[in-house]
Amino acid sequence: MKFTYKAYGDLLNLLRESDYKICSFHDYSNHNRCAILRHDVDQSLEKAVTLAEFENRFSVYSTYFILLTSDFYNIASIKNSQITHRIKSLGHNIGLHFDEVKYYQSTVSIHEAVENEIAIMTDIIGIDITSVSMHRPSMRTLDADYEFCNAINTYSKTFINELNSSQTAVIIGANLQLISLRAIRSTSCIFLLTLFGTQKNP
Ligand SMILES: [Zn+2]
Repeated sequence: MKFTYKAYGDLLNLLRESDYKICSFHDYSNHNRCAILRHDVDQSLEKAVTLAEFENRFSVYSTYFILLTSDFYNIASIKNSQITHRIKSLGHNIGLHFDEVKYYQSTVSIHEAVENEIAIMTDIIGIDITSVSMHRPSMRTLDADYEFCNAINTYSKTFINELNSSQTAVIIGANLQLISLRAIRSTSCIFLLTLFGTQKNP
């Protein structure tokens, strides 16, 4: 599958035809056959809102994980605040995309740093943050298996086990090319991860 809007639209149609319910990280347990759509916004909020609008036309909803510490965008700017709220108003969720590298020399623990960034992002954008995805997590961070007060860690063992215990299969792809149609037909739960701004298309 190519990483294009056309291919993504075909994928969303296939999910619908295959009776998948598109779920969020919070309501997937209410459905037997579900897919969770997740986008890590690594570089471009403009591309994110374009895809958010595209998904809205398909009546599907995702979680957009946004960096507080990006070199490429500033979520505190007026324009980006409007973009973030536009994504939210289209029915999507906003989560924290967390880059641990910033804290390698810090005395603050990674756990504390995530909690701090959740609080800061909530304050800046005025939207509750209830899920966190790690940007290129190290093995150490994955092994640490962090649990946060009011947010799901999408890499936590508890969360992954919860998906598995509800007899769901999880596919984590680095981009759309890793999701095969066969996988969609044979599994009951799908993670769809796209890395914005790191691909040529869309
Ligand atoms: Zn990332």
